[in-house]
Amino acid sequence: MDNINEPTFLREFFPEKYLKIIEMDQEETQICIHMKSITTHCRCHKCGTLSSTYHGTYTRRVQDLPILGKTVRLEIKAREYHCTNDKCDVTTIAESFDGFLDPYSRMTERCADFICTLALETSCEGCSRICNKLGIRISGDSVIRLLIKRYEALDSPIVGEAVGIDDFAYKKRNTYGTIIVDERTHIPVTLLDGRDGESLREWLKNNKHIKVVTRDRASAYAKVIAEELPDAMQVADRFHLHQNLLEAVKKALNQYLPATITIPHEKDSTDLEATCKKNRNRCG
Ligand SMILES: [Zn+2]
Repeated sequence: MDNINEPTFLREFFPEKYLKIIEMDQEETQICIHMKSITTHCRCHKCGTLSSTYHGTYTRRVQDLPILGKTVRLEIKAREYHCTNDKCDVTTIAESFDGFLDPYSRMTERCADFICTLALETSCEGCSRICNKLGIRISGDSVIRLLIKRYEALDSPIVGEAVGIDDFAYKKRNTYGTIIVDERTHIPVTLLDGRDGESLREWLKNNKHIKVVTRDRASAYAKVIAEELPDAMQVADRFHLHQNLLEAVKKALNQYLPATITIPHEKDSTDLEATCKKNRNRCG
C-alpha cells in the first residue's frame, strides 16, 4: 500500500471550507482518501436551525467517483451537532458539507448524480454492471433504492386541469400500475398501484379541480372518473380509438372471410419453374 501525504492537488475537488484532506492510501484497485471535518456549526436538515453545539465525532466511510478506474473511498472524521430548536424532534445533526454529502448517504452526491443519470439512460441492472466496470461498487437493487429516494425528495408537481390516465405493466400479466400525465406539460404527475381504479379514486379525491381526463378504454377508470369527477369531460385518446377501429374492422372481416384460404401451390410452382427455365435459356 502506498501512502501519499498532503495530496494538495486533490483539495480543489472537495469543499475545502468544510473538509481537510489528511492523507491518501493507494492500493491496486482502490484509493482511500482520509479527511476530517473542520466545521464549527451545522444547519438542521429538518427545521433549518443553525447549531454550533458540538455533540461528537464519528467516522463516515463513503464512496466517491472513481479516479482512473480505481474505486475511491473517503474516510471522513465527521462531527455531529445538537439541534437547539426545542420544537424539533431531531436530536443530533449529521453534516452535509453544503450538499457534498447527504447526511445518511453512503456515497457523495456527485457519485449519486452520475449513477442516477446512467440508470435513467440504461436500466438499473445495466447501470450497476457499467458502474462496477468503472470502479463504482453498487448493486442493481441499490440503484433502484437510490432512484426512489431521489424521486421521493422531489417536490410534488402541480397538476393542471387536463390529465391523461393509462395503465402500464411492472411485470406483464402479473403486476400493473396506473400512470397520470399532465396534458399541458406532458410530465408524469404520479404512479399509482394497480389498475382497478381504487388507487385512482383516492388520487382524484385530492384533485377535484381536474376538468378533462384522457383515458383508455378500461371501464374501471371510466366508472371511477364519472363517480369522483361527474362534471369532467372524458376523452378517448387517439391510440385507443385506432385500436377500437382496428378491432371493429377485424371483427367485420372475420364474418365474411373464411377461416382458411387455400393458395394453389401447384400452379405457382409450375409457373415458377417455367420462368426459371425461360431465364436460364436467355442467360445461356
Ligand atoms: Zn432541528
